[in-house]
Amino acid sequence: MSALFTPAPQNQIHNDMATSADRRKRVAVISLHTSPLSQPGTGDAGGMNVYVRELVSSLAQVGVAGTTYVRRWHPELADEVEVEPGFRVVHIPAGPTDLPKEALPGVIDEFTDGVREHITATGGTDVLHANYWLSGVAGHRIKHELDLPLVSTFHTLARVKAETGDPEPQTRIDAESDVIGCSDVILANAEAEAEQLRRLYNAPSDRIQIVPPGVGHAFFSPGNKGGARRALELGAGPVLLFVGRIQPLKGLDIAIQTLAELGDPTATLLAVGGASGAEGQAEVERVLHLADQLDVLDQLVLVDPQPHHELSTFYRAADVLLVPSRSESFGLVALEAAACGLPVVASDVGGLRTLVQHGRTGYRVDGRNPELYAKYVATILRDPGHAEDLGRTAAAMAQTFTWSTTARRLETLYSELAARQPVPCVAV
Ligand code: UDP
Repeated sequence: MSALFTPAPQNQIHNDMATSADRRKRVAVISLHTSPLSQPGTGDAGGMNVYVRELVSSLAQVGVAGTTYVRRWHPELADEVEVEPGFRVVHIPAGPTDLPKEALPGVIDEFTDGVREHITATGGTDVLHANYWLSGVAGHRIKHELDLPLVSTFHTLARVKAETGDPEPQTRIDAESDVIGCSDVILANAEAEAEQLRRLYNAPSDRIQIVPPGVGHAFFSPGNKGGARRALELGAGPVLLFVGRIQPLKGLDIAIQTLAELGDPTATLLAVGGASGAEGQAEVERVLHLADQLDVLDQLVLVDPQPHHELSTFYRAADVLLVPSRSESFGLVALEAAACGLPVVASDVGGLRTLVQHGRTGYRVDGRNPELYAKYVATILRDPGHAEDLGRTAAAMAQTFTWSTTARRLETLYSELAARQPVPCVAV
């Protein structure tokens, strides 16, 4: 055997491994109120869960070890779950497991202590990445206690919700302002969110970075429409699709009114998702009542929340995705549909302004006018050639959004932040 093939002594292998492990960046991802392991589409689980799960998984693949801290929300959860190498979820006890979301501000301190103790006991971290304002409050405190840089992603902002008729308590607004004033970097999913951070929170421009999320192209890609329809036992009539948590903000009522405006008794509206938030169950009852009043109840099919990747069958089977949200920091479902070659008709708000190119990948509607939604849906249904063009352009547009790009950008950002002093807090 030549010298080239001499096996390395055992201790040398261990030393090499230790050196490369030492070089690995570590991020503590804080996700206090909802777990990346939860089923999205109902309760408190939605885009943020998908974001944390896909992001931390992709970060692991570019060599960043991520520990995600979630409040223990069920008594039988394991203390730690190794999701894959480089991605683990740690459940931190803080208050009774079944606390409603409205009571979570009262346990932030206990949660924060638990996260800090775990970080310290496991050798530290390079950077904190907080998701949503509750986690931001925890991250802000740990930033000062351990002198670490803080990256914040808000997912939704109270002042944005208030602008569109969903007011939130002043305590949340104040807390968001504090976190914004002390984040080393505030991540915006799209230009619209960056603009909202500046306009509504006076966020310092030089601390905002726009880093869009991605989409899992291995699952979300164009496919056979006929096969998908057979799998879902759908007939030949037009299929309108709505995917998301059912709460007033998401506008399922507009989708139902659009179905009624369309006036096609062969059309079906599939609504995939479950009740969410304090008003969720009342909203389900309200939209069912509305469908009944508009005489389209038998054309409406409510589908229980589906495992994330199985949604591709729904996107492939449908003719159009409706996203009539009042506000949307990004709108992952619009991107997933586009990746499957499905045209999207969406409200002209937030990240949907980036994701839906008017007349090229679908249509954007200003305001909450079901007649306009129905007009665009009819335009798509009437002309299969045009629908195909929209779908092809949508799929090509979606190719530019990948989780690996998002992860590489964050890996660079974390490394830069780890190499310098955390920024001081400023009043915003
Ligand atoms: N989702 C899911 N199963 C469902 C309904 C929704 O996996 O039954 C996922 C959907 O694929 C998307 C996320 O939940 O990734 C919703 O994200 P979006 O940004 O559209 O809305 P958010 O929940 O953040 O308000």
